Amino acid sequence: MPTAAEAAAREFAVHVRQDRGRCSALGDRGDMTAKQQPRTRHVPQRTCIACRRVAGKRALIRLVRTDAGVEVDATGKRAGRGMYLHPNQQCWSAALKGSRIEQALRTKLSAANRQALQAFAATLPASEELPPIDAADQPVDAAQPGTEA
Ligand SMILES: [Zn+2]
Repeated sequence: MPTAAEAAAREFAVHVRQDRGRCSALGDRGDMTAKQQPRTRHVPQRTCIACRRVAGKRALIRLVRTDAGVEVDATGKRAGRGMYLHPNQQCWSAALKGSRIEQALRTKLSAANRQALQAFAATLPASEELPPIDAADQPVDAAQPGTEA
């Protein structure tokens, strides 16, 4: 029985062949295997909207604008306009103090929404002294309070 990966690989091969068929019409760019995405290597960099420092995407917490309001995006993959904050109270309170989140996400924060985000921020470590989340290849569990030093 083929594994999901094998099935995917076969589908991809078919796809490439179909692509090749079309290629002559579009101007042949040669070897289509170049289309395969390289794994890892490039770590996307994002800017914390509070302190403006750049960090690897996974070292930051993503907030996403949804129909229900602004929510913490633990997976970092949810659809919608997003922004990033360091996982510490310093950056969160700076962001929540003004209208930076609203500006970044082009939305209005309701009082309840702001409160929910403040409650989340309260579970974070106070300042930056925390192990790099980058190293841990696991989703951030929003329900868990940060580990105390
Ligand atoms: Zn920050």
